[in-house]
Amino acid sequence: MSKTLQKEVDPILCASQERKISGELSYNELTRLKDVIEPSSQPIRADLEFSRIGKFVVVTGRISASLVLQCVACLEALDFQVEIDVKLAIINSESLLNQLPDNYEPCLLEGDHLLISELVESEVVLVLPDVPRHNVCPIDLPKSSSSKDFALQMEEKKNPFDVLESLKKH
Ligand SMILES: [Zn+2]
Repeated sequence: MSKTLQKEVDPILCASQERKISGELSYNELTRLKDVIEPSSQPIRADLEFSRIGKFVVVTGRISASLVLQCVACLEALDFQVEIDVKLAIINSESLLNQLPDNYEPCLLEGDHLLISELVESEVVLVLPDVPRHNVCPIDLPKSSSSKDFALQMEEKKNPFDVLESLKKH
C-alpha cells in the first residue's frame, strides 16, 4: 500500500496542479540518513502539497517518523520521534534568499527537477541531534566483579573531593 517517495517531480508543474504527494521512505531507500539511523527505524512518512505564493513554488505539509538512533554513551538504541512542519520555498538561485515568503525556509533546487526523497531526507537531517544520547541510559550494569571494582574506584576517587568540599564549607 505504501508509495515510495523516490520520485522526481517538476516543481512548477506540481504547483500549477496543486499536487499532493504522500508516501513513505523505507530504510533501504535512504541515502544521506542511512549511516546515521539504525535499520530498525520505521519508514519516514511524508504528506506534502505543492502550491504557489507570488513567484515562489512552495511545499507545505508534514514529515513524521519513528527513528532509531544509536546512543553515543551506551551504544544502545535510542528512539527518536520526528515531526516536522514543512514550509519550504523552492528557489534556484541564492539571490532569491532575501525575498522568501514569511516563515518559509529555502530549498535550493539544482536543475528543473526535485527528488522528493532528497527533500524529505534533508529536512530530517536538520532535526537529528548532533550527538544522540539518552537522558538516562537504560543499561543495567553487569554484576561482574570487574564492574564492582570499577564502581569502588569511582567511590574512592570521589571521596577526596567530598572531603575538600566539606572543608570549604567550614
Ligand atoms: Zn545511552
